[in-house]
Amino acid sequence: MKMATQVEVLSITSDLFGPPMTIHPVLIWDEAGATLVDAGFPGQFEQLKASVEQAGVAFSRLRRLIVTHQDWDHIGTIPQIKSALGGAIEICAHGDEKPYLEGQLSYIKMTPERAASRLAALSERLRPEAAKALAAIPIFSVDRLLADGETLPWHGGIQIIHTPGHTPGHICLLLPAHRLLIAGDQLRIEDGRLVGPAAEHTPDMQAARHSLQKLLDLPADRIACYHGGVYSSGIPARLAELAAGR
Ligand SMILES: [Zn+2]
Repeated sequence: MKMATQVEVLSITSDLFGPPMTIHPVLIWDEAGATLVDAGFPGQFEQLKASVEQAGVAFSRLRRLIVTHQDWDHIGTIPQIKSALGGAIEICAHGDEKPYLEGQLSYIKMTPERAASRLAALSERLRPEAAKALAAIPIFSVDRLLADGETLPWHGGIQIIHTPGHTPGHICLLLPAHRLLIAGDQLRIEDGRLVGPAAEHTPDMQAARHSLQKLLDLPADRIACYHGGVYSSGIPARLAELAAGR
């Protein structure tokens, strides 16, 4: 019998920058292997690996990693993932993120100035570990470019929705068979409320607002937000409010 696709929204907590912060990569798997969506902060490899295995998936079954966008909290462990798997993993991202991920362009947000000011804001106790993590923001090659509107053939179909604004090549993913939208940082949960991308981390808010329009009327009963976790109540009405600027 064919094994049904399973999906788990992972929870990984870090106190690298003081107050604990939880992120939510998504693991999708079936008999043909597993796909991970986003990869945590630098330094979180062991936590991420343990979290995958806790979901009941041997880490060696990972076949591909889909990167929603270039920010350091989404790509931090990719070199360790690659080396743990002997390179046998396909890294997938939107074409507009590729020059950043591969180092032809500098990452948009974690500039040396920004890194220095984040470090300066920390206590002496936290600074050494945080400095190590900031120095380890990786670059790596992208094996497969993803395009808006394409449906990837894995796990019953993964639809790519290009949602620029937070970064140029930010994507959301729709798993129609699971009625799940994986929102990356395009949507967040703040105090129990579904909200759009954080203005202070979103260089092009106008584009990000426009991108919200693309999420209306999708067949989704759950939204996995990288920052906030799973949101499931009154999605169509809340997305309509957000797209209208409320
Ligand atoms: Zn993020």
